[in-house]
Amino acid sequence: MRRSNIGLIQLVFTLLLTAAAVPAQPNSPMSSDIAFTVAMSKPYTHLLEVEIRVKIPANLQAPNESDLLMPVWTPGSYLVREFARHVQDFAADSDGRALDWTKVDKNTWRVKTNGARQWRATYRVYANELTVRTSELNSDHALWNNAALLIYPAGHLNAPSTLRVVPQSGWKIATGLPEAKGQPNTFRAENFDILYDSPVEVSNFRQLDFQVRGVPHRIVIDGEGNYDSVRLRNEVLRIVEAETAMFGGIPYHDYTFILHLRSNTGGGLEHLNSTALGFRRFGFANEDGYRRFDALVAHEFFHLWNVKRIRPDALGPFDYTKENYTRLLWVAEGITEYYGQLMVRRAGLISDQVYLDHLAKQIQDFQETPGRQVMSAEEASFDSWIKFYRPDENSVNSQISYYDKGELLGLMLDLIIRVRTNNTKSLDDVMRYLFREFFQKGHNYTPTDFQKACELMAGASLDNFFSDYVRGRKDLAMALNLMLAGAGLQVEQAGIGIGFDDDGDRRVSLKGFLGADLEDKPDGSFIVIKSVRAGSPAYEQGLNAKDKIIALDGARVDKDTFEALIAAKRPGDTVRIMVFRFDDMRTFDIRLAGAIDAPYRIGPLAHTNEQQKRIYQAWLAK
Ligand SMILES: [Zn+2]
Repeated sequence: MRRSNIGLIQLVFTLLLTAAAVPAQPNSPMSSDIAFTVAMSKPYTHLLEVEIRVKIPANLQAPNESDLLMPVWTPGSYLVREFARHVQDFAADSDGRALDWTKVDKNTWRVKTNGARQWRATYRVYANELTVRTSELNSDHALWNNAALLIYPAGHLNAPSTLRVVPQSGWKIATGLPEAKGQPNTFRAENFDILYDSPVEVSNFRQLDFQVRGVPHRIVIDGEGNYDSVRLRNEVLRIVEAETAMFGGIPYHDYTFILHLRSNTGGGLEHLNSTALGFRRFGFANEDGYRRFDALVAHEFFHLWNVKRIRPDALGPFDYTKENYTRLLWVAEGITEYYGQLMVRRAGLISDQVYLDHLAKQIQDFQETPGRQVMSAEEASFDSWIKFYRPDENSVNSQISYYDKGELLGLMLDLIIRVRTNNTKSLDDVMRYLFREFFQKGHNYTPTDFQKACELMAGASLDNFFSDYVRGRKDLAMALNLMLAGAGLQVEQAGIGIGFDDDGDRRVSLKGFLGADLEDKPDGSFIVIKSVRAGSPAYEQGLNAKDKIIALDGARVDKDTFEALIAAKRPGDTVRIMVFRFDDMRTFDIRLAGAIDAPYRIGPLAHTNEQQKRIYQAWLAK
């Protein structure tokens, strides 16, 4: 694309707007048709320039006023982010005559269109935050999330639209939206859910291409890093092959991975035929770095089925003006995380043991979170909007992550179904069933539908399971171990299966346990207590989050030394901890408890039968 000096006022595009009562007819040229143009003439200002022109077809009455709305959130990230706060310089006109407008609430602009058959609105959006759910424009590139950039005409979320991009000279455009024929740098979307689902990267990006089952895939990379491009492309390809093999097909025409490599970025956001990913630019230094990258890719890619097509009750079509509540994020995110990790193994990119070590760590982290006794998987899902994305020092005591518990519930359901059916069915069958019976028949699924699908595959009621572990907060440990035994495995700590009482004969090495999570202040002045785990000696004997530790037993120490000295103590030993709390110094003599001095591990049972071996093989190496 040539360099453009076209100012906002000169940008031309057309928006055909039908009356709200007329249903959209996406393939008819007479139907509503909305077009956007996004320009970036001054990247150093971080301002993306947006224009919208409305033309009312002759057969429709032109309204006297029209509302334009900015979404408050973006699907896939369940937090109200108030994207309207970045909008400035809003204006509207008809044939060059300014139209009056007013804000009627935080994200709605009401334009006095006075029956005009053609009118337009322009505005700019400050874009200086690189995450997968926000937007960034600077001298190096532009990435935007359409839900954070483009306003929609009230009542017209079903209307098709086009999006024209005016890039900086030398920059290319990557998006999952299909091109509009005969219109350069212009893309089309059949409705606003599709438009908002499609992030756009504009830069001099690197592109890696591959095909799976004849379908084109591309990895678009912005930023430098220490990755091996041949290896990276091959591993993404293997993940795509493993996941499409599970579902038995590819439900899109092409797929775009948009990858940003930075020193301090991470995460991903799923879309119908694309994903935006962030990863640490030097995160490919070792095998564990590639495993983490592969698991991120596998998670976001799995979402193209689970959440983008297999949709929970409230998640699509979306209401962009407020929270959309569902109790199913433990499925949409947690089971996606289960498969995201498992698929790295099934694609042959890591060994069985590396996967089992990951699972053991997940189980231990969850079991050491006091919030698991306070919040269920369904509650965590429902309250995502006010809790998961807004953690504080008490979160560890009052919350769980629906990603973490959902991954463990996915594991448990997979193994229950395999054991009950002699390995003829699995959680894979549940996912395929939901795709076939809900997505392909045009329905979203409810919590009851999900439970029924699992029961159908298991051939038995799972009501106790869902009551105890999904809707309830019962401890998972013993059930997890019984289910892992179905694959000939057990999770143990210091040789004792978790969830089972020690018989008392075994001598287990214990370390001193305080129960405070710490961080060094960047300036090295203090250790700060980040959180205090409920029920621990630190919690019960008076330490607080945000206390600044001055000394342990009279000596100044850093975080690593503090933790090593505590661990070397015996249960029952007393330590003297001096802290600043706000402006005053306090001294605490704290009697330590004990913790087993060994990590969780998953290993084989001493004796396994043929069914256990078959389940193990099918589960990890399908
Ligand atoms: Zn996800």
